[in-house]
Amino acid sequence: MLVDQFNRKINYLRVSVTDRCDFRCVYCMSEKMTFMAKSDLLSLEEIARVIRIFNGLGVEKVRITGGEPLVRKNIDWLFQTINKENNLKELTLTTNGSQLKNKASMLKKSGVERINISLDSLNPDIFKRMTRIGRLNKVLEGIKHAKKIGFKKIKLNVVLMKNLNGFEVFNLVDFAIDSGFDISFIEEMPLGGTQFNRSETSVSNDDILSSLQNHYQLSESSFTTGGPANYWQVKNSRTKIGLISPHSHNFCGTCNRVRISCKGELFLCLGHEEKIELLPLIKANPYDDSPIIEAIINSMKLKPESHTFDLSDNQPAVIRFMSHTGG
Ligand code: SAM
Ligand code: SF4
Repeated sequence: MLVDQFNRKINYLRVSVTDRCDFRCVYCMSEKMTFMAKSDLLSLEEIARVIRIFNGLGVEKVRITGGEPLVRKNIDWLFQTINKENNLKELTLTTNGSQLKNKASMLKKSGVERINISLDSLNPDIFKRMTRIGRLNKVLEGIKHAKKIGFKKIKLNVVLMKNLNGFEVFNLVDFAIDSGFDISFIEEMPLGGTQFNRSETSVSNDDILSSLQNHYQLSESSFTTGGPANYWQVKNSRTKIGLISPHSHNFCGTCNRVRISCKGELFLCLGHEEKIELLPLIKANPYDDSPIIEAIINSMKLKPESHTFDLSDNQPAVIRFMSHTGG
């Protein structure tokens, strides 16, 4: 069992399998991105090994993310292998939905029961402005297909930005209600430099909650996925609305997760630089897991108590983008 210096049990691993993506969301990436050389990334076999090691250390929930995880070559093999080799309570995925038409069935067969799909707009023009190169139709087609395949739960993730999709709250929640999905609003985090001043674009979840309460009948829910969201049940529907509020309601006290970046860094917090380089250990010890296990156990001393996100100075908390660390 992994326990950090603040007595938080770490049982959740997020893995970024690639920093590449077929979108360039304005809050996530800069317009011109330089991606890592493929030779610098963890191989799929190495990712599977790291997950096996974490599972042996008590991690029971794994989320595959990125970048866009479903654009990584041979990603099917990774899902199938994780499913076969581990004893997980949950294998999940965060995706932009663009590849779901082809991948949803494979995901279901690989034991993925719940997926998070990012959907920031239902307006094709706004969607294009937010993702720069994404196509809403393709995502909606993917979502429709995933719904047909029948996952236990689909949750939509939304980052609202003033003057872009800020007015779409009710449209997006209505879409979630009609589809039987949950939906979470994520406050923009200062990860990597983008073209916007985040203090001008970010929308507070407190404001979103007030408008939601005026529009829907909501009751606070005790439901938790073990993650940072607070949930509100929409009356007479299957939909819960999650609010992930790093700024307005710090959630670090119950943090149960660490992250593996696409190049094998073990990050102890999304908003801090503390990390352990696992790749050299993995390469140097192809048949012996013990040095890697020791490094992971020792890393627990480095996990910070809390992020220190501050939007007011328009400086990123860390230079790396969310796509590198794994959102
Ligand atoms: N490409 C996949 C997707 O978009 O769902 C998975 C990776 S993406 C980095 C994971 C989540 O992080 C998405 O829901 C996205 O909206 C969110 N995200 C990315 N950059 C963010 C930022 N700076 N602040 C808040 N959320 C962010
Ligand atoms: Fe790609 Fe996801 Fe980042 Fe958008 S949020 S650019 S889809 S990694």
